[in-house]
Amino acid sequence: MSKTPAIQLRDYQQQAVDSVLRHFRHHSSSAVIVLPTGAGKSIVIAELARVARGKVLVLTHVKELVEQNAEKVALMDTELSIYSAGLKQKHVDGKTVIASVQSAARNQTQFNAGFSLVIIDECHRVSDDDTSQYQQLLTTLKQHNPQLKVLGLTATPYRLDSGYIYKRHYHGKVGSESAIFDDCIFELPLRYLVKKGYLTTPKTFDGLSAQYDFEQLSPAENGDYSPGEVDALIAHQGRATTAIIQQLIQLSEHRQGVIIFAATVRHAAEIMALLVEHNAALITADTPATERDQAISDFRAKRIKFMVNVAVLTTGFDAPHVDLIAILRPTASAGLYQQMAGRGLRLAPNKPDCLIIDYAANGFDLFAPEIPQAKPASNAVPVQVPCPECGFANSFWGKVDADGDIIEHFGRRCQGLVGSERSQCTYRFRGKICPDCGAENDIAARNCHSCNSMMVDPDKRLKEVLTSRHHHLFRVDSMQLQDVGGVLQIDYFDIDGNQFSETFRLQTAAQRRALFAAFLKPHDRRAGLPFPQYSTAAAVIDDARRFRQPDLLLLQKKPKRGWQLVDKFFDYQGRYQIGANFCD
Ligand SMILES: [Zn+2]
Ligand SMILES: [Zn+2]
Repeated sequence: MSKTPAIQLRDYQQQAVDSVLRHFRHHSSSAVIVLPTGAGKSIVIAELARVARGKVLVLTHVKELVEQNAEKVALMDTELSIYSAGLKQKHVDGKTVIASVQSAARNQTQFNAGFSLVIIDECHRVSDDDTSQYQQLLTTLKQHNPQLKVLGLTATPYRLDSGYIYKRHYHGKVGSESAIFDDCIFELPLRYLVKKGYLTTPKTFDGLSAQYDFEQLSPAENGDYSPGEVDALIAHQGRATTAIIQQLIQLSEHRQGVIIFAATVRHAAEIMALLVEHNAALITADTPATERDQAISDFRAKRIKFMVNVAVLTTGFDAPHVDLIAILRPTASAGLYQQMAGRGLRLAPNKPDCLIIDYAANGFDLFAPEIPQAKPASNAVPVQVPCPECGFANSFWGKVDADGDIIEHFGRRCQGLVGSERSQCTYRFRGKICPDCGAENDIAARNCHSCNSMMVDPDKRLKEVLTSRHHHLFRVDSMQLQDVGGVLQIDYFDIDGNQFSETFRLQTAAQRRALFAAFLKPHDRRAGLPFPQYSTAAAVIDDARRFRQPDLLLLQKKPKRGWQLVDKFFDYQGRYQIGANFCD
């Protein structure tokens, strides 16, 4: 039996430790635990090191974290040594070794003692590149002990460019197929820490004097925006920056420390000019290390009130007194937004709350679950959509009405894990059918996941069809549903007022099935959520807002029968967005 710890663990810290012990008792797959900043990760690490039977190696990428972890491990009365060139200590003889990954990777022969557990702090930094320092070191450690257990800790398990850092989540949710870690075994929501008083209450502020409009920006795959485009947009928004900084100066009068997240280096310079008489410092990725350290220590000592930065103070930076966070940069990443806001949530004396102001109208909820997809529209919110096949409650981006009912969601594939294999549920809320084998694929798939044949590029197909005669591409500007003597008529109008209509009867079961296949399902904004049994046209019309309009209709003129519908295109972003006129 191990001695009782020197520090009393908080309930969730003990739960995290227990989940690790439980996992490694039964499995050897690598594991991740997710704890928000401020949850006390080093205490969890220290307790794990204390109760582990064999030798434990704790790895991090910066010497500050080596020190912080070593301090907590020492409190737990564990025999420890430190291996970090930056700290001028290189010992590996303790039961617990706390190392910087750079120093350890450069001296791998020293790490031959047969560690039983390796704990990686800030594990979202581990890359899947086999030649990375982490991977090389893990390979060496496994040579000395093939049973080595690998545990990662992080506050940010999701990246817009590469997805989740784990393959499966213990809530029965899928992660990313190619992730480095296997299982997420514990995750603590930020809300819990605030509710229990372990973090400061974030206070949002609505009385904005000005706000940037970044709505027309579209992010790159990794969720970033082009600095040039951002600068151009800011330049077009006149005196917004002046008004924002004036308001910040006012609001911060009784605040202790303010962090301003600027969008670009040029934007930051503009902000600095407005703060010239107000004790401000600027750091960017290019600020020399000594200057940067000086600015940070001045800020921590409250000699500087405003800390302006461009993409540098999101992780690792800790100044508990910060009680105003001003976000003046756009981001499509909920995780990045939470990291920025998280800089202000530490408890500190004379700090009843932290004001968090989103001047970029990013519109994220600090407590919302992570949605594995860039935010598709500025008014999108997280919605819960149960899978009709496995019942898993998916979190997707969506739109809701004033009552909170879902109007639309942007989910594609169910995120649930099913079966004893725990593989991803195959249900797709939206998909496209492979013309060769009939398998359903993601709407953006280039190759069929089943038969690997090329999925048809809509533009290529349209180009072919439109060069043949009697075809017309109808660009839908609006859509209306009407009841014509019990028949459901769908009218489409293009920008010139031309009309094309489809009609559906609902008398027989076969007619209702046809309506479902040709209209209800493809037009459904709330894919996968059950439909009522529509038995009349009027009932469908009552639900009209549930049905989205297609972007394009491909029509073909048939002898005697006139224009006939060949295909509908939803979510179309190709070259044919500007419709031609009706002609044959
Ligand atoms: Zn499912
Ligand atoms: Zn196929």
